Amino acid sequence: MLEIVTTRDHNDIQSLYYIHRFTRASIARLYGLSHQRILRILDNKAMSIADTECLLCGLEEIVDPFYIDNNDNNNSPQNVIMLCEADRRRIRHLQMRRLRLPL
Ligand SMILES: [Zn+2]
Repeated sequence: MLEIVTTRDHNDIQSLYYIHRFTRASIARLYGLSHQRILRILDNKAMSIADTECLLCGLEEIVDPFYIDNNDNNNSPQNVIMLCEADRRRIRHLQMRRLRLPL
């Protein structure tokens, strides 16, 4: 069993769960970790999604958190993604058109 879990692993596991919607059981099998260990990693909000590159295009500069519900107090991992300026504008534009949200 793999015992050492790096920060990178934490980020990958959280992405698999919150973004790619893997089940906890399949992540546990994939990493050879116990279900409890996966629960603890997913619970660790301090180490949320990797924050060094844009989730959409992979650009590694000028990425900022984007709050899907437009509420920057909602820091739940499901609500926050890292985006570059161009993708941030594109997503906001899409939201405005589909949801008619104010900018
Ligand atoms: Zn981007």
